[in-house]
Amino acid sequence: MEQIILLGVLSTALSAVHAQSFLYSPQWGPIGYKEREKQKDATAMDTIIKANEFQVSRIIDGTTTLREGDIAVSTGRRSKACFARSCLWSKSVDGHVYIAYSLSPDYSEMETKQIEKGMENIEKGTCVRFVPRTHQRDYIDIQPMSGCWSYLGVRGGRQAVSLQSPQCLQVGVISHELMHALGFVHEQSRFDRDTYVTIMWPNIWRDRLRNFEKFKTDSLDLPYDYDSIMHFGRYSFSQDGQPTIIPKNSQIIKLGQANSLSHIDKLKINRMYKCGDRDDN
Ligand SMILES: [Zn+2]
Repeated sequence: MEQIILLGVLSTALSAVHAQSFLYSPQWGPIGYKEREKQKDATAMDTIIKANEFQVSRIIDGTTTLREGDIAVSTGRRSKACFARSCLWSKSVDGHVYIAYSLSPDYSEMETKQIEKGMENIEKGTCVRFVPRTHQRDYIDIQPMSGCWSYLGVRGGRQAVSLQSPQCLQVGVISHELMHALGFVHEQSRFDRDTYVTIMWPNIWRDRLRNFEKFKTDSLDLPYDYDSIMHFGRYSFSQDGQPTIIPKNSQIIKLGQANSLSHIDKLKINRMYKCGDRDDN
């Protein structure tokens, strides 16, 4: 009984801390997002952050947390390093990478079409093909859970991709999460990113500093891609409406994408999966 009371007190205290962090940064999020929405250049990542920060606990369940805002990581399982090509989906002898998927029956016909558009976005110009699951052992199971998130690369067996409706059902957001499932991290977490962008640490919401870590990534001999659908927006995780990422080349004004993969995103997929560059389709 005492333990139950103690837990109750603890959870009240924790929720007070959580509420307080919002109070400390009253301008974080909502104001920044409204400004971005007005300008109609919110990136896919901005939409994801909006969905996840307000609706998902950072801990999805007892063993899964979100890294960098939307990459699911199981704490009870050694997370594989995708950069060494160890968590790629297998390639068929016909040269395509077939990714089997199942879709929750909870999605409407319209929502299903939208998810298919997100898949087509990736398929166009790449060797990846999404196919409804029949018997495949490894597959993604797309569900309208809480928030927009995916695991990184193939995990073996069933792996969830959450696309909450309607928050995560924009084509760009769907493509972004599927790119994580293919094994891609965010563009600005590239090991060489400091050559191309300046991270404005004082402007980042304090609890989210870890979302801006760098990783030992394989650049696949491709240039840094400011236009990537995997790039954070200029104001991602801003605590006061000020930019959190600024391109070093001041002539480049846009970071990230709202709706579609960049040209380099497609090259990335083809290089990572050794499919050759397919500029023609
Ligand atoms: Zn992401």
